[in-house]
Amino acid sequence: NSQIKPLVAGNWKMNGHRAQLATFAQMCRGVGPALAKSVDVMICPPATLIYSLAAAAVGERIAVGAQDCHAAASGAHTGDLSAEMLADCGARAVILGHSERRADHGETDRSVNGKALAAWRAGLTAIICVGETEAERKAGRAVEVVSGQLAGSVPEGARSDNTVIAYEPVWAIGTGLTPTADDVEEMHREIRSRLCASFGDHGKDMRILYGGSVKPGNAKELMAVANVNGALVGGASLKTDDFLGILDAYR
Ligand code: PEP
Repeated sequence: NSQIKPLVAGNWKMNGHRAQLATFAQMCRGVGPALAKSVDVMICPPATLIYSLAAAAVGERIAVGAQDCHAAASGAHTGDLSAEMLADCGARAVILGHSERRADHGETDRSVNGKALAAWRAGLTAIICVGETEAERKAGRAVEVVSGQLAGSVPEGARSDNTVIAYEPVWAIGTGLTPTADDVEEMHREIRSRLCASFGDHGKDMRILYGGSVKPGNAKELMAVANVNGALVGGASLKTDDFLGILDAYR
């Protein structure tokens, strides 16, 4: 894992009002210069907070990202936001194809692929999420499902500086359950080999995050697994102590 600088990104989902600016400022203070050297840190708040968090990002130690974007740059798409708009507000990255969006908004590999191209067009890093359901894992199909999602969701032209992959087993999200370190290692090894096959040296250097019930108590073990280059953190990214506790894995 050592040559790739890890990324720990917090996904606030549909949580947070302007009062949480204070939480974000606390997080920024908690990420000192030494920690910032060993890990990239990002918070992806609801779109309503992107501009103010980006403006408050003390010393640039925490980058700000978004949680979704539309594939088009502008147009008649009521309620949607383009990647260009997110970049204009200070976002550096956008989470795409999160399992909650795949389930709640019918997002498919094809639509995620189009959104990733939009993210790159706007200069944003695409954080593309993949992961199997519990039924798929029980049926022994986890690797097959994730490989299919990678093949469909990650466009040609993916590079280590424009794309991050997040492996998030759906059954581990928000449940307190996590795969064993061996299962995480096996999946991340598979993802790495497919990225290398598709994108050559860029696949070798692309960050592969683990996501799903990462907490201060399990972060160190999970982040030490081969080919785990950081974490996508949901619930535990809402509280300063928990988020900084996870970052301790890189101190
Ligand atoms: C997520 O939804 O991206 C996630 C990882 O959630 P949690 O950490 O709460 O399981």
